[in-house]
Amino acid sequence: MHKTTLKIICFFVITLLVFGPIVTSKTIAKEHQQIDYKNNDVLTTDEKIQEILQKINETLVRNFMEYLILEIGFRYTGTDGCQKAAQYISDQFENMGMQVRYQNWSAKINKSNPNFITSQNVEATQQGSNPNYDDMIIFNAHYDTATDTVGANDDGSGTVAVLAAAYVLSQYSFKRTMKFVTFSGEEQGLFGSDAYVRELYDQQTPVLVEFNADGIGRASTAESGRKIRLSVTEDTGWITDIMQNMTKEYGLNFNITTFWKVNRDLPFGFSDYFPFARFGYESISVWESDGDPNYHSPQDNISNINLSYLVNTTRHIAATMAILADTEVEVPQVYIANPRAGKIIHNDTIIKNIKYVTSLIIDETNIYAEVKQGLYPIDRVEFYYGNKLLFTDTEKPYEYMLNERSIGLHKIKVIAYDSKGNSATDQMKIVFFNIKTK
Ligand SMILES: [Zn+2]
Repeated sequence: MHKTTLKIICFFVITLLVFGPIVTSKTIAKEHQQIDYKNNDVLTTDEKIQEILQKINETLVRNFMEYLILEIGFRYTGTDGCQKAAQYISDQFENMGMQVRYQNWSAKINKSNPNFITSQNVEATQQGSNPNYDDMIIFNAHYDTATDTVGANDDGSGTVAVLAAAYVLSQYSFKRTMKFVTFSGEEQGLFGSDAYVRELYDQQTPVLVEFNADGIGRASTAESGRKIRLSVTEDTGWITDIMQNMTKEYGLNFNITTFWKVNRDLPFGFSDYFPFARFGYESISVWESDGDPNYHSPQDNISNINLSYLVNTTRHIAATMAILADTEVEVPQVYIANPRAGKIIHNDTIIKNIKYVTSLIIDETNIYAEVKQGLYPIDRVEFYYGNKLLFTDTEKPYEYMLNERSIGLHKIKVIAYDSKGNSATDQMKIVFFNIKTK
């Protein structure tokens, strides 16, 4: 054979050997996606949910869990393990074809250490298909651990749930945008989620609801293996109804109870839902039904994870998200668009950002409530100052000029009612300094 011909043949053989498998696997991945998207157009919501529930299975969940816990392990914020976990999560999101973003944050995480630590949240976005459904759904967990633990349940379970939900939901298209977010800095004081929520709030991104999962992988008895507990903010009743109906309708038959109502006024929270609650967002945290005896100990390892339970808690969150993402909201929604939280404000103008959620407001301020109607028209919007009703507005724009004399801390609350009596609430705390006479 001629040397050149041989060279050409060699070239083709090598090319085929090297690139053949890549091309083939890429093509398969692409076809797989195309099939899903094609199905997606003809699938009813019911069929979509059936598929989603099936696809979230033990194999999928185990793969993520084993890598995170057995390969990476300890993930205390600021360590190599934490960094590796962020990279792993980001790689997984990218493989799913989603837009991925690192959000860096820095904070003094330790009182005895004066240095700032820089770490990152990892966020994946699945863009919604219908711009009229402009309020997004967020599902988050924290990927960092406490000291001396690989954190299989706290919060490997939540992180794996976010990954598994993202993996399956990204195979379909939905009207609303979904965000899958993993935070660091949770164990030292909710640093990652705090930075994330501040950015979200300052960009005025509309959010339908945030789901938090922190400890959803442990059930020690058959009975607790069929229970889920929720902590919720006040306007999420219609969403927990969706979850309740889903578990019956699709034969999961879990007993879902509300564990506690989130108090937005508390000075501290127990997990990453708290910054969302403080900034006025609606939030649902999903918790396992047992307390975890291995909490923050070396025994919080993979052998104490109940895999089938973790699959089921993940299914409940993912399926609820899927239903919500295509559902028109029937209840009213309200949020205080002015004044803004976390600011110093003078004469209704923002002077600067502060690290507190409570704003310092000097001189009068216009309370402006943005109201979205559900099925029924808005009947009225009530403006409260503390527990005192100051004003009721029945016409757009819904607003009230707050010019009470004050030197001190107050709560502003706004309640919107529709013609059927459904209501929605938003509130914020302000330090109000106004000594001008009316
Ligand atoms: Zn945790």
